Amino acid sequence: MEKADLVVKGAKELLTLGKTDRNVRPTGPRRGREMSELGIVEDGALAVRDGKIVFVGKTQELKMGGKEEINASGRVVLPGFIDSHTHLIFAGSREKEFERRLLGESYQEIAEGGGGILSTVKATRDASRESLFELGRNRLDEMLQWGTTTVEVKSGYGLRTEDEIKILEVIQELNRKHSIDLVPTFLGGHEVPIEYRGNKEGYIRKIEEEMLPQISKMNLASFCDVFCEEGVFDYEESRRILKKGKEYGLKPKIHADELSSSGGADLAGELGAISADHLTYPSEKGLEGMRRNGTIAVLLPGTSLFLRSETHAPARRMIEMGIPVALATDFNPGSSPILFMPIIFGLASLLMRMTPAEVITAGTINGAYAVGKGERVGSLEVGKDADFLILNIDHYRQLPYWFGQNLVEKVVKKGKVVWNRSRV
Ligand SMILES: [Zn+2]
Repeated sequence: MEKADLVVKGAKELLTLGKTDRNVRPTGPRRGREMSELGIVEDGALAVRDGKIVFVGKTQELKMGGKEEINASGRVVLPGFIDSHTHLIFAGSREKEFERRLLGESYQEIAEGGGGILSTVKATRDASRESLFELGRNRLDEMLQWGTTTVEVKSGYGLRTEDEIKILEVIQELNRKHSIDLVPTFLGGHEVPIEYRGNKEGYIRKIEEEMLPQISKMNLASFCDVFCEEGVFDYEESRRILKKGKEYGLKPKIHADELSSSGGADLAGELGAISADHLTYPSEKGLEGMRRNGTIAVLLPGTSLFLRSETHAPARRMIEMGIPVALATDFNPGSSPILFMPIIFGLASLLMRMTPAEVITAGTINGAYAVGKGERVGSLEVGKDADFLILNIDHYRQLPYWFGQNLVEKVVKKGKVVWNRSRV
């Protein structure tokens, strides 16, 4: 038999995230009990050819050799992490606001005084393409070492046509040049820029009549997102932006019910959004609509922690209802300067009582579906991209348990070892 390019053998646990315990393969994101069923193969093996998985199973059933072989004995092997919600590209930082918040000011008060997102918008408008590329590349290098192999990245710190395009083009270039795959989202509706204060209608029209047509024509984004929140874009305004995005071929995503109940979950259900993200304060009706439409709840516990919120998204309720749950970092300078998915896994367990199996499902296959790549990555199955990790633990439950430690020993992207701890 033809040799594989790479073979991994003897894994203590190989988490396929493919078939469930009842030997059924779900056809979309995992819900309810499926989120706890990791499709574990003990003494597992994996073979890769041309960047794709060609064998998954028991080591003794593996009949092919490999040009390169990795002994994974005593290790956990699982799909690379999918970070399905980030704001990776921005300049500057906001540690002064961090301190002001610790001393009692609220996120909304700081934003109303011209701080918050708008201070990052200024720094990002002033930054060159090259410096944004450098910042992005350094951040991706860090993420890769902690196991992220695919990342969704939003624009939204330009809020001017040329600057939104600048950010999306940096994302496109990083996707070409970095091992991590980037999925681009247009977030012109992140905030109303300073020059449109008092004329929100004018800014929405700019998004509808100028930004969306140009970005769609240049093929720079897969999704359109909006910050649906009191004081930013309300239900109707968010609906307008997302509907227009849909007309231009960009699937809707939504920042929903983050700081208050603002109808975001309801809107996600109504528009058939691929995901609704945050959901700290969703309405029961909104959750029901999401369940009906199969909208994925992308939960961001790093953000509610960083904002010192006493309320976190009701993950258990969502899982019980059958809403598919994904997890992401929300990496951004204001409310979650966290780059690493394993940190988010620990927080999801501690703050939202998600089990170790559920956080792994949420950070792999469900994240992949939340960025429209569920048929290519997110699980270890024949025919899928060979994106996987070897962790220095012998049982998957240790992943959220060893909170704050980097357990990643090797990262394999499209069949190539792109990070190897033992060689540094
Ligand atoms: Zn966000």
